[in-house]
This record gives sequence, C-alpha cells and structure tokens, in this order.
Amino acid sequence: MLTATVNLDLYRYEIHSLIKEFYPEETVKVEVTAPETEMPAPFLSVFFAPDAIRIADRRAEAAEGEDLSRKGRACKTALKHLLYEVLCSRTGRTLPWGELIGIRPTKIAMQRLDAGDSAEEAASYMQRTYGVSRGKASLSAAIAEREKSVLSRINTKDGYSLYIGIPFCPTTCLYCSFTSFPAAAWKESIARYLQCLRREMEQAATLMHGRRPDTIYIGGGTPTSLSAEELEVLLDSVADCFPVEGLLEYTVEAGRADSITADKLKVMKAHGVSRMSVNPQTMNDRTLQLIGRRHTAAQVIDAFHLAREAGFDNINMDIILGLPGEDETDVRHTTEEISALGPDDLTVHSLAIKRASRLAEWIAKNGMPVMVNTDATMAIAADAAKNMGLFPYYLYRQKNMAGNFENVGYAKPGKYGIYNILIMEEVQTVFAIGAGAVTKAVFPDGRIERCDNCKDVATYMENLDEMLARREKLFSGIAEQEGNSKK
Ligand code: SF4
Repeated sequence: MLTATVNLDLYRYEIHSLIKEFYPEETVKVEVTAPETEMPAPFLSVFFAPDAIRIADRRAEAAEGEDLSRKGRACKTALKHLLYEVLCSRTGRTLPWGELIGIRPTKIAMQRLDAGDSAEEAASYMQRTYGVSRGKASLSAAIAEREKSVLSRINTKDGYSLYIGIPFCPTTCLYCSFTSFPAAAWKESIARYLQCLRREMEQAATLMHGRRPDTIYIGGGTPTSLSAEELEVLLDSVADCFPVEGLLEYTVEAGRADSITADKLKVMKAHGVSRMSVNPQTMNDRTLQLIGRRHTAAQVIDAFHLAREAGFDNINMDIILGLPGEDETDVRHTTEEISALGPDDLTVHSLAIKRASRLAEWIAKNGMPVMVNTDATMAIAADAAKNMGLFPYYLYRQKNMAGNFENVGYAKPGKYGIYNILIMEEVQTVFAIGAGAVTKAVFPDGRIERCDNCKDVATYMENLDEMLARREKLFSGIAEQEGNSKK
C-alpha cells in the first residue's frame, strides 16, 4: 500500500491517478491531514508514507494575493508537474503520456491547432508542457488534424447525434464494465424495452424540433443480440421518428460474432445502416474462452464474410491489447488474422481493469495474470493498421489502462467513424436513449450538461417518465438560451 498525504482536499483524483500510473499493482491511498482552513494559504504539499517522499519544499505556488480556488488550474498543473518529477526520479521511469491525467490528449492538440500552431508545433508543445513522449505527441497532433478536417464538413451547431443503447449480450465478458445484461434472461422483456426506446425517440424528435441528426449510433451491449424481428421493430421506429436518408453515418455495433446472422444483416441493410462492427477482441480461441466470449475466431471470420456478402463496405473491428495471458506472439497472430480480412476500421484498445468488472475479481482470486501491453504490442497493432491502409483518427485514454497506454481508432480515408469523433470532441449534442445511456447536451454558450438514464433495465423501464421529464427540463434550458441569444 502506498499512502500519499496531502494537506488540502483538492486534486485528490489527479494525485491518486498519477501515483497509480507508476505503481499500477499497488493500492494507493490519498489522505488529507489538515482541514483546509489550517492550510498555509497558497501552498500545496504532498508527502508519501512510508518512504516519506516530500515535495512540499518545492511548492506549487499561487500568485500572490490570489486565493487558491481562483488559481486552481495553475496550482494543479504545478503540483502535477512536481509530483511527476519526483515519481520519475524515484522509479527511474518516464510515462508515454507524461503527466497528462484527466485531459484528452487530442483536445490539447486541437486547441493548439485552433490557435494557429502547425501539427509539429502542437506536438512540441505537448512534449514541453506535459512531458508527453515524442511519439505520442505526434500521434495526438496527427489525429487532431484528421478530426479537424472531418468536423469542418459538419454543421455541429444545428445538427446532433443520436445514440441508442441495447444493453443485452449473449454472455458477459470477463472485463466488462458496461451496461450489459444476459439476453436470454431478458427475452420476455425486450418488446417492452423497445416500446420504451420508441417513446424516447419520439421525445428526441420533438425536443430537437425536426432537426436532422448527423449520425445515429446503435451500441450496447450487443444490438445484434436482438432477434431479426426485434431489430426490425427497432429500426422501423428509428425510420418513423428521424429522417435517416441524409445521415452522414448510421452505425450498428453488432459486435459479437455469435450474434450476427444473415437475416439481421439483411434488416440492417434494408434500413440504411452504413457502418457496422464485428469485434473479435482477440483471434486466439484460448483467450476468447478465458474472457467469457463463448465464440471462436472462426466464427469471427464467418461473421465478417457474411457482412461483406450482405453489402457492408464499412466494417469496424475492435481488438484489446493486454488481455490475460497474451503476449506479443498472440497479438501478432490476432493482427495477422484481421489483416487477412481487411476491415475498413480497426479500434485498438488497451485493457482497462475497471473495479466493477469480473476481471478485477478474477485478478484478486488468481493473482496478477500476464497482462503485457507494451510499446512492442502497441507497435505491432499500429504497424498492422498502417499495412492495411488505415490511419489513426481518434484516440482516448481511460483510467487503469494496462501500461499507461491509449485506445486508438484507425480507418481508411473517407471511412473515419464520425460519431466517434463527435463523442470525443463534444462539439455537438448527443441525444442518448436506453438503459445506462448518457445524453450530453451542448448549450449555445458551449456549456455541456449531462442527463443520465438509469442503468438497470427494470428500473429504466419503470422510471421512464421521470427520465423523460428530466431531459425535457434540460432541453427547455437550451431553448431558452437560444431564444435569448436571438433577442
Ligand atoms: S460484448 Fe461488450 S457490453 Fe457485452 S459483455 Fe462483452 S464487453 Fe460487455
């Protein structure tokens, strides 16, 4: 156990996260020792026990005469900088993403590009300011440039995107921390769930005043855990409520190979779905069994060919690096199998061990498995993407990722996942419906407000009216601000 002691209850999250990046296998505790009123006003201190690392002598100082809360950001940056230096010298290591915690790398790169920097200058800024490695800084700047070019073709102000959550899956993966319920156990409730979604769609169409969505993304869960008939009901509802003809992108995240059939693909194609996914996560059968996916690599190959035969020319595949027991040979095998298929889009995830997942329990029970996500495995995936003619176009990091790495989406030019970029850059409203979905409403002044749906399916269906009312209130706030700005 590592304990950091701070004398101000600010930045607890950042301090905890940064220490954890250096000591992923340790339990890290951040304690506050003194009430804030006893703080020597403009200073922050961090002491470590039991080794008594001390950074208080090098204080993160607020400008004279200004209180800490007003100088919060400057203090936070200075504190993180000091802490990062101490941790580097203590461990003899640097991190690929330096001291970046809780900030999206591409957001920083995007801000620099908007301010007139070249991609090269934006990358240098990230290296200088946050200690980000040259490779990661250049990757962020290249992705930001690609995102900017996609966003420049979208009317983010008047458009919006729609997310529909289908929280059912054939089985639950070991690492899952999403809203997912076993499809077989909920079979009898699916019709009612689809009716609830219909009511939410009708509300979305009303609250968006007939505005045209730019993208629709049906995710989960596993949308194709619905039967072909249920899928048809769902996609008919979408077509009744929204003009789907002019969509820039219409995605169904089919995901699990064992849920993809020719009938379902036919329904999707007939309703104008333009992008879909077949997600293996790994092409090693041993690992697939271990992580509880209950399908084989051969089924992934069959599902992919079935999707191509059904006419899908924009297919995404997801893989995860750092899965239990996998090493470079396994990752190479996965990328070779995927390269032979030639998807249009490949998302490379670094395994994130969420506290709520069965994987966290599994680790506690079985000890730390071999979870090797390294520069070498990341490079194997990046090289495979490059050789398939795919370019990195979106990137995000999560807490507790194996090896302080990142998730990167690669795609063929012209096939970049627009919804993925929009959700990352938060430049337009995403109206999200279904259990566990989170609406992010962008106000005219740029403020973003969230509105969460209940995660539990039964609670979601029982409390639909309450959720609709909350969202109506949120959107009436936007309408009011729009009205005021026109006056
Ligand atoms: S397919 Fe995705 S949502 Fe479903 S159980 Fe696996 S990780 Fe969770």
